[in-house]
Amino acid sequence: MKMQNFQILRLILLLNIPQCWSIFTTTVGDTCTADWQYRGSLGEDKWSTFCPQCKANMQSPIYIKVSSLLYAPNLDLLSMENYDSMRDIQVTNIGRSVMLDLRSAGEYWLSRGNLPGKYLADQMHFHWGSDSSRGSDHRVDGRQFPLEMHIVYDLMDQVKDREMIAAVSVLFEVSSEDNADLQPLIQALSLIKTQGQKTTLPYFMLSKFLPRNLKRFYRYYGSLTTPPCLETVVWTVFKETVKVSERQLSVFRSLTYRDNESGQNRQLANNFRKIQSLNGRIVYSTEDRSGVTAGAFAAIGLTVVILVIGLGAFFAFAWPKYKAKKMRAEDKQPIVETSIQ
Ligand SMILES: [Zn+2]
Repeated sequence: MKMQNFQILRLILLLNIPQCWSIFTTTVGDTCTADWQYRGSLGEDKWSTFCPQCKANMQSPIYIKVSSLLYAPNLDLLSMENYDSMRDIQVTNIGRSVMLDLRSAGEYWLSRGNLPGKYLADQMHFHWGSDSSRGSDHRVDGRQFPLEMHIVYDLMDQVKDREMIAAVSVLFEVSSEDNADLQPLIQALSLIKTQGQKTTLPYFMLSKFLPRNLKRFYRYYGSLTTPPCLETVVWTVFKETVKVSERQLSVFRSLTYRDNESGQNRQLANNFRKIQSLNGRIVYSTEDRSGVTAGAFAAIGLTVVILVIGLGAFFAFAWPKYKAKKMRAEDKQPIVETSIQ
């Protein structure tokens, strides 16, 4: 099943058909053809009935528990190319999310960061809640965020089943003021409130949607968070969040989707999946558990080395001189005898 999916996906890539991932369509895999939704008779609890991969043991999203992270000093810096370029980009209300077609806009590359090769961005989309207590797929130390952005990439320069897809996650936090960088997208969303509507977002710059600190992230192996739930995804979840205001979130929450069962338009929100079991998987971090970065760790190590050398020099040279001087001084002390009558 897994190899079959893999071959079909490679064929799709070779045919240069964008939007090949599950958030757009469920054509991948012969049993994942149902028109799934997050709730109802084809909701997430039923996904595995028509898509068995969704109950496999390396699923996403996960709960990231900071105290259980494994510090990975070999996680080097990510390379992200062309993210500062300005492009016109198509934004579509696809009913399960809003999707930005990165593949058609230009070439956004992701590499290094201990990834096995170069990945080309295919699309980005969002998950959000009906209120700010929920929304994100991933959770960190029990906290769910109001908005999460996913950039989905395809591995281009070699075939490696387990890491064929890379996904980058950006978590958003509520701020009292609008995030000006998001505003062009927010305005575009107000034009595509109904499922199937699309518009062009001019002067789009992908770097504006990323946190400033790209050096700190979590890394684990998992799956797509929607059918067909393929377990060929290497996840990078940035630690630093991006700001979004309640007013901007309210525009996400004003979007609608067409409900399969009733045929009615309903609010598009809470498009996140339940937390999946880790099943023994390790989540790696660019920082150790105490929050000490690799650079700080090296600085601490250097300080310890200098201290040890300093103490060694003291005991080798200064201490014998001090001891000899003290002994000479004691030799000159008069001997006083006392007696008790
Ligand atoms: Zn997603």
